[in-house]
Amino acid sequence: MHAVPKALTLEEIKEATKADTTVQVVIQAIQTKQWHNAKLQPRVDRKSVECFFHIQNELSVNSDQSLLLRGTRIVIPSKLQNHVIDLAHGGHQGISRTKQLLREKVWFPTIDKQVEEKVSCCLACQVTTNTSNIEPLRMPEASKNPWESVSIDFCGPFPSGEYLLVLIDDYSRYPEVDIIRTVAHTTVIPCLDKIFATHGIPGTVKSDNGAPFNSTEFKQFANYLGFQHQRITPYWPQANGEAERFMRTLKKTARTAKVEGRSWKQNLFTFLRNYRATPHSVTHQAPATLLFNRAINVKLPQSQTVAPADPNHQQALDASCKSRQKNKVYFDERNKAKSSEFKVGDAVLLRNSKKASNDNRQVTRNSSHFKKFKEKKGETDNPADKEEQPSKQNTNERPKRKTKPPAYFGYKQSDK
Ligand SMILES: [Zn+2]
Repeated sequence: MHAVPKALTLEEIKEATKADTTVQVVIQAIQTKQWHNAKLQPRVDRKSVECFFHIQNELSVNSDQSLLLRGTRIVIPSKLQNHVIDLAHGGHQGISRTKQLLREKVWFPTIDKQVEEKVSCCLACQVTTNTSNIEPLRMPEASKNPWESVSIDFCGPFPSGEYLLVLIDDYSRYPEVDIIRTVAHTTVIPCLDKIFATHGIPGTVKSDNGAPFNSTEFKQFANYLGFQHQRITPYWPQANGEAERFMRTLKKTARTAKVEGRSWKQNLFTFLRNYRATPHSVTHQAPATLLFNRAINVKLPQSQTVAPADPNHQQALDASCKSRQKNKVYFDERNKAKSSEFKVGDAVLLRNSKKASNDNRQVTRNSSHFKKFKEKKGETDNPADKEEQPSKQNTNERPKRKTKPPAYFGYKQSDK
């Protein structure tokens, strides 16, 4: 059974970089441009130095010389190389996808060979893979924009009796996966409603001809949101080799969890996170990057946060900063705010929260939740027990919703 590999922090890499003789010699060689001596230093791995020498133009050192970089990728010292491969193989993607995910963030000499050796020896992968990896087919029609057209199918049932609702954006190949108990329209439509709330309503939804996509309710749902529903015959996976392959991988993920004695849902989320961050074999871009315009963080270290160089972002940041300052001035003036004068050991009243209890627990609040408690002489009981009563008006109660969603959405009365 495998232990789940822990995420690597930059600090750990810096530490290992400092302790790695070969990397230190390379850092020196970059700074002094004296490569001829590097190989001759004691306790260095000559082959690695040779490797670094050939790519010296791509190498650099960060400002405090704690990390060696190849372009924007962090060079991983030998001590941590196995760990980093384990992280990239989390969720058990195949060899080429594991390599691709690694190459997004890190590099080290013989990286490809090491991944091949490690992944081909992975027990969980060997037990569960019965077909060779076939390269995905191209999509029949190219989608020109993110979320313009999406494809849906189901995977399962799994031993737990559950199914996976799988929806893939045809442009970015970004998958949304939901665990569902049945494939009835009463379950599927609310799921899609939630996904379309996150990403917006797609132009076209492609599916097979089966239930629940052939139901009147689904047709009404499509009309209600205003997307086109394209039913593809023959069965969708044949029309879409990429999706078929993705489904196969999903099933494998569930089976590897069994081999490793882990929750298949946990494996599923690890797999999805890595899948979304790995460049796709057709687009050469990570699905998340195409859909969100930013690289998402996975457990692998990242040398820098790549902020999109979009002027909209700068404007949004400026506006948000201005608003915060304005609010502060307004608040302080209006409330004649001054820093609270509590000392350690002061008795205080705590503003009552909904779930107040009378024990002596420690509470963490902004100081505005406290009020200094004036003790009467001779009173010895615990002042913290005296809680200020809030005003009768209960602002937490939601206003009654007037319109209810159409019944075919599958929402129950109790969801109102
Ligand atoms: Zn594996």
